[in-house]
Amino acid sequence: MPIPFLNLQAQYQSIKPEVDAAMQSVLDSSAYVLGPAVEKFERDFAAYCDVDHCVGLNSGTAALALLLQAYEIGAEDEVITVANSFFASAGAISQIGATPVLVDCREDDALMNPNLIESAITNRTKAILPVHLYGQCADMDAINTIARKHSLLVIEDACQAHGATYNGKKAGSLANAAAFSFYPGKNLGAYGDAGAAVTNDAAIADKVRALREHGMRKKYLHDIMGWTERMDGLQGAVLGVKLKHMDAWNTKRKEYAALYRTALGGVVTCMTEQTYGESANHLFVIRSPKRDALQEHLTSKGVQTIIHYPIPIHLQPAYKNMSWGKGQFPVTEKLAEEILSLPLSPEMTEGQVMEVCEAVKAFS
Ligand SMILES: *Cc1c(COP(=O)(O)O)cnc(C)c1O
Repeated sequence: MPIPFLNLQAQYQSIKPEVDAAMQSVLDSSAYVLGPAVEKFERDFAAYCDVDHCVGLNSGTAALALLLQAYEIGAEDEVITVANSFFASAGAISQIGATPVLVDCREDDALMNPNLIESAITNRTKAILPVHLYGQCADMDAINTIARKHSLLVIEDACQAHGATYNGKKAGSLANAAAFSFYPGKNLGAYGDAGAAVTNDAAIADKVRALREHGMRKKYLHDIMGWTERMDGLQGAVLGVKLKHMDAWNTKRKEYAALYRTALGGVVTCMTEQTYGESANHLFVIRSPKRDALQEHLTSKGVQTIIHYPIPIHLQPAYKNMSWGKGQFPVTEKLAEEILSLPLSPEMTEGQVMEVCEAVKAFS
């Protein structure tokens, strides 16, 4: 039997009565955009992240972009983020007219390297945007210390880190504000696009609320220029149901990640788990110098794998106008050639995890 990377259908089947009822109540109320289901989810997710405010949006990218705008970051400003991430970490910065400045990642955990941040700071730098990649928090004490020293904002890209912790504190509560994505494949996934901005800053939350809805605070009074980036009622309903299950799902992810580590230690290189926190285990990423052949071998055994990500941000065609080039972020570039994400989802069985391990071992 093939082992899919994710099995969203199996997850739906496991919670179908609850999800169907929640979606039906949105249909019955016709609260299609924002509305009570979104408001309830905003309260529940803020409490989950241990922050005061959550603003429901239509994507994680919107959460990043609107937070940057709420902090009045724009043209002339620079924001430091990491070359090893999904494109949107930098893309959101560009969308609002600011300039992304990249730093390389650490080799052992693929996360932003705090030692490279200070030399990237200029008099135009306004914020640092670390990414909790693969579910593990970036080294926030080191990053926040640099930010304080240089009076910079810190906005977490927590799009892969729902439920992760850092020194006992939840991802989303570790800096000025944070962005979450609820794209279907994330640890907390909607049935379409959705995202949220979280913060303890009431004024910033209020501004993101205006920005998501044409800059309106009062109906048909537009204080500022805004966008159409609200969360749908149906997504709020689905997310409200799924949030109650997420900790149990994350526990399963943790179990399976531990199984992978034990079975594959010495066979392939796994990403280092830092002792400063608990990963949300969004992805289980291994490294192999023969990555492409390994991926082909696994495909032939029916094991679906994905590369997160094959082309680093600084080498993307959309950024060909930047002064970035090959060789500039060597750790990120090396990882892009060696990394491979193995199937990891709460819907897998332990037997399937062991099958994946056997398939990897058969190659090595
Ligand atoms: C998924 C993701 C995003 C963007 O989320 P969307 O909801 O697709 O806009 C941003 N950053 C990272 C690291 C992500 O994984």
